[in-house]
Amino acid sequence: MVEVVVVALGSNLGDRAQHLAAARAALAGLPGTRVLQVSTMEETAPLGGLDQPAYLNQVAQVETELEPRSLLEACQAIERAEGRTRGARWASRSLDIDIIQFGRRHVDEPGLTIPHPELPNRDFWQRGLAEVQTP
Ligand code: ATP
Ligand code: CA
Ligand code: CA
Repeated sequence: MVEVVVVALGSNLGDRAQHLAAARAALAGLPGTRVLQVSTMEETAPLGGLDQPAYLNQVAQVETELEPRSLLEACQAIERAEGRTRGARWASRSLDIDIIQFGRRHVDEPGLTIPHPELPNRDFWQRGLAEVQTP
């Protein structure tokens, strides 16, 4: 089944715009997956008042035949391909891909919660979502 999914891209290390571009291209290359729309990029301060470089963020609307868990694993592989090393939550990273929404589905499993529970707290995600959402 094809679902319309919204993912959030973020980078605060290296060539941030290049990491986001690589993420968009890699998402488009996943099996049964197309990138439908992307939001404008927005720069934000790091979460949690951490002393880190600023983030570049973007929201993408994607159509995919992948199941949520497969998409998460594919996103984590794309993060690694862009040089992400696993640090603490909210540690600086070359690329972060979070699944915000997956159609109308609700997922609550170890390691995967959809809709992303932080959506209500992140106005830059909400702005991006509004840009890509087709009513
Ligand atoms: P936040 O999730 O608050 O933005 P983060 O992106 O820094 O924090 P990560 O270290 O990238 O956190 O990921 C921690 C774990 O979150 C991942 O290993 C993944 O299993 C889990 N996770 C749960 N729900 C989701 C989701 N909807 N999208 C992406 N990862 C998720
Ligand atoms: Ca994140
Ligand atoms: Ca993440």
